[in-house]
Order: sequence, then C-alpha cells, then structure tokens
Amino acid sequence: MIALGGNAIKQPHERGTFEEQMRNVETATVQIAAIARNGYEIAITHGNGPQVGNLAIQQEQGAHMVPEQPLVVLGAMTQGQIGYMMQQKLNNLLADDGKEVATVVTQVIVSRDDPDFQDPTKPVGPYYDEETAKRHGAKNDWIVKQVRPTGEKTWRRVVPSPIPLGIAEAGVIKKLVESGTIVIASGGGGIPVIRNGEGKLEGVDAVIDKDRAGAKLAEEVDANIFLILTDVEHALLNFGSEDETPVEKMTITEAKRYLSEGHFKAGSMGPKVEAAMGFVERGGERAVITSLGKAADALEGVTGTHIVPG
Ligand code: ADP
Ligand code: MG
Repeated sequence: MIALGGNAIKQPHERGTFEEQMRNVETATVQIAAIARNGYEIAITHGNGPQVGNLAIQQEQGAHMVPEQPLVVLGAMTQGQIGYMMQQKLNNLLADDGKEVATVVTQVIVSRDDPDFQDPTKPVGPYYDEETAKRHGAKNDWIVKQVRPTGEKTWRRVVPSPIPLGIAEAGVIKKLVESGTIVIASGGGGIPVIRNGEGKLEGVDAVIDKDRAGAKLAEEVDANIFLILTDVEHALLNFGSEDETPVEKMTITEAKRYLSEGHFKAGSMGPKVEAAMGFVERGGERAVITSLGKAADALEGVTGTHIVPG
C-alpha cells in the first residue's frame, strides 16, 4: 500500500497547471513502476488538497453561470482527475509488463458521532477577509474560522476531519489487487460518507486525512507493507532544531514515546507516524516513511524511517 504526498502531484511553488501536474505524476509513477517490476502487488492512494482547493475556487467563481457542487462531490471529481493522470502514466510505463491499472472511486465510511463534527478543524478552499468569509458562511451554511493571526485574508472555511472506519469498496479493491491490477483508490482520503438512519450511505462535507485512510485501506486489502511517500527522506527527532536526528527504525513503543515528546508535528508528520503505527499494531509487517525519490531504496531497507512491531 503506497500513500503519495501532495508533492507527487503539485509542488508548493507551482500553480497547478495540467502540464505541471502531469510532469510530477510522471516522476511519481516512474518510482511506482520500478516497484511493480520488482514483483509487488500495489494499491496507491494520494492527497488532493491543492486540486480540491482550485476546484472550490472554480465553483465559487462560476456560480452565476452553473450550480456549485458540494465539497463531497469535489472529492469525487479529484479522484477521477488524479486517477486519470496516474493511470495513463502507469499504462504507458508498464505497457510491456502486462500490468493493468484501474482507479476506483472510493467512499470512506465515517461516523456522524465523530467529535470533529462538533468542532471542525480542517481548513479547505481559499482564504477570505472576515466579512467575505462570514457572508459565504451564512449563504452556504459553512463554518468559517480565522486560521492565521495576521494578513489581509486570514479566514477560511473549516470542515470536520473524522476518523475513517471502513472502505465501502474494499471488497472490489482487494479483488483487483489480488488479480495483479495496480489500483488507485481512496484519493484525497476518500469521499466521506455516513450511514444514515435507514442504514444507507450518504455523502458528508468533510475531509478525511489521506494517511489515516491509507492505513485503513492497507488493513482492508491485507497489505504487508505500508509505504508513505512525502517530501522528506526520514522522520526526524527534534524537528526544526539544530540537533535534528533522522529515525532509521522505531518500534511501536519508541514511536509512541517520540509522539508524546512532540517530535512529529500535528497535521503533517504526526498523522503519518500515527497511521504507520496503527497499521503495524493491527498486524502489518512494517510501515516506511520516506521521500518519493527514495521509494524503491527504502523498500529494500537502504533508507527511510521503518516502523516495526515491538
Ligand atoms: P504530505 O503532502 O506528504 O502529506 P506534509 O506536508 O503533510 O506532506 O508532511 C511532510 C512534512 O512534515 C515535511 O515536509 C516536514 O515539514 C513536516 N514535519 C513535521 N514534523 C516532522 C518531523 N519530525 N520530521 C520530518 N518532517 C516533519
Ligand atoms: Mg499531509
């Protein structure tokens, strides 16, 4: 199970043109194709923050011409968008290896009782000044919050970031992976759905952390390795200080201690380490956190941060 970080699709300095994104996806899929040729069965998940942010702006700006679609649908749109780009690149790279590739539009089940629905924490979409934020909030029934202390535009919409409880399409994803298909699934953390009073699935405007959803999917497809690819080669101790130290290997016990000592920041490395631990605690062989360019090396054990039982 491979989780791709945001930089695999859009670099921070880029605007997110189609050409830029295709170039990044090419780099990412070259790594994945090499892993596939080494004989691994692969499922891939990915982030969608910048893509869904841009789509949100398009919804708002085009609202006088065509109806705005809700956030939950934007999540589905980006799964198709990014899935298409990765699918095509992988098809082209693996044409001679007889590998098939498919994207599954994936619904991830969350609970309406998740505490994050009471106090949403995840900022989405553009920044606004206070007045515009409150106007949009009132019109669309959004919760808006000030998310940075200074500047002209400091307000954003915030949505819940609930814990993933299950993957609606887990069965078909597992069958595809076992048949040797490279599957792209649960993009952007998945389309958040709840079971309503009648037990039926229903979309909710929320954002599930992609590393958490990746760990859930890893568990449901019985993955033995969960590879989290981001923009740093190792998780570091004393992050941001002068004595930063890369972690090459940590047991669950050690990871818990480092987490409680505050080495891994909330919202970035923190959820990755937690997702890695969760996967290993529920029976996974090992989880590895490393940079995109080091993916194949890290799988061979040469680099990366390895999270193992114990
Ligand atoms: P992704 O898009 O891959 O999820 P994130 O930005 O969410 O990327 O997480 C990766 C970032 O986590 C790194 O670029 C780094 O700035 C930050 N980070 C926070 N704590 C640590 C740490 N202890 N070690 C390494 N990186 C850390
Ligand atoms: Mg992240």
